[in-house]
Amino acid sequence: MSKRAYFVTTPIYYISGNPHIGHAYTSIAADVLARYHRTLGPTFFLTGTDEHGQKVEQAAREAGFDPQAWTDALIPKWKALYAAYDVGYDDFIRTTETRHTTQVVAVFERLKETGDVYLGTYEGWYCTNDETFWLESKLIDGRCPNPECGRAVQWLSEENWFFALSKYRDRLVAYYRAHPEWVRPERAYNEMMSTLEGGLDDLCISRVNLDWGVPLPGGGVMYVWLDALLNYLTALDYASDGERFRTFWPPNVQLIGKEIARFHTIIWPAVLFALGLETPNVVFAHGWITLEGEKMSKSRGNVVDPFELVERFGSDTIRYFLLREAHFGSDFSFGEEKVRLRRNGDLGNDLGNLVKRSLAMLARYRNGRIPAAAPSALGARFADLGARTGALVERLAFRDALEAVWEFVTALNRAIEEQKPWELHKRGDDAALDAVLYDLCEGIRWLAHLTFPFMPATARGMWTQLGLAGEPAGAWSDELVWGRLASGAQTAPAEAALFPRLDASVA
Ligand SMILES: [Zn+2]
Repeated sequence: MSKRAYFVTTPIYYISGNPHIGHAYTSIAADVLARYHRTLGPTFFLTGTDEHGQKVEQAAREAGFDPQAWTDALIPKWKALYAAYDVGYDDFIRTTETRHTTQVVAVFERLKETGDVYLGTYEGWYCTNDETFWLESKLIDGRCPNPECGRAVQWLSEENWFFALSKYRDRLVAYYRAHPEWVRPERAYNEMMSTLEGGLDDLCISRVNLDWGVPLPGGGVMYVWLDALLNYLTALDYASDGERFRTFWPPNVQLIGKEIARFHTIIWPAVLFALGLETPNVVFAHGWITLEGEKMSKSRGNVVDPFELVERFGSDTIRYFLLREAHFGSDFSFGEEKVRLRRNGDLGNDLGNLVKRSLAMLARYRNGRIPAAAPSALGARFADLGARTGALVERLAFRDALEAVWEFVTALNRAIEEQKPWELHKRGDDAALDAVLYDLCEGIRWLAHLTFPFMPATARGMWTQLGLAGEPAGAWSDELVWGRLASGAQTAPAEAALFPRLDASVA
């Protein structure tokens, strides 16, 4: 088991607009990875907000604010999203912070010195909404070709700074070939590879007619996308070669939505090549949560409000649902009926009832005291569960990991049905009754550990009910050894079920 430092990032979220369920999805996945890896060694989970650019400036002005005051006012809402979903980041970086902007300028100067940034003239069609230049040939009826946008574009001709992206094309292709899993899932890798095969143009990285950005020496501001990408370095105090940087660089996993893969898997590694830095081990482009088959977006008005959702279903139910419903990397369709099915089925009937029945029988037959351990067929059968599930989490196969855990839940429930503790009690078969009750309690202890990264509140609930001190947050390889649960401890079953049933009328 590697004790190496672990660094996971989400994209920094574009502050203009309200947080939606997609932001919660990415952040929860990063939180699961961070909670799991914190048990193994030093871990750093970075997230934050992307606050520059023309759209932010326009929205602020329209609302009658200075852009800084406007973004300041939006921050609490973003932080509230993390709190509502139990997402425990280690750092939240804002691109308007001085620690970021000073380092952006330092990177710019460094790239000028290496010759990767040069002055040139940019002419092209610019979409303000997407903050993107488009080739004439890409326009559709003279308008922005982004299917989400389609707005009018303007012709711009400016003297600007360029990043020499094209010169890294061959190196990127070679890198992709040598690291076939550095962009995941495979679909994203293939798309980016074909973009690379189509050739790359140099990238215009300054904007002269814009004020709301990181000011560059000599005028203009930095292109908002490069400004944003650099957060992954600046949050680690890269420019001063800070301790965070030396400990955590390069990122183990960078989570992104698939719509921003080009920035993170072509431009970003090229910038890192230019700076002489290692690239991330994995950039993972997860899928979209759709609503009845359509991508959620503000312009379509089909956005699920993550605050309303968590209020009605609870954080752990939504965390479980999002990671259990589909393979991470695939699109999936959101529906409240599906959430309710998971909640009442997997969580209520399977897990919640297991805990409630087991501890109730322990209370009835053994005054709530954990009996002595005995050799266990169940323990032997699931001896590799921690290692298997851990490997799946490390691969970001969250759904498979939860399925492996639920096989164990099913086996524990089956042990109750098959061994019928009430009959063992009636027959006075104390040894057999102790054995099954111990198995159930030890199983719940395992489940507390295994579910902790996914459902921290539920895991703590199980832990407390078992009467254990501390937190269920140890490394699985150390903790998931059958028989570690001490006998004699007094359990403290809760009155309320872990997942009370939700009826359609309630939720
Ligand atoms: Zn556009």
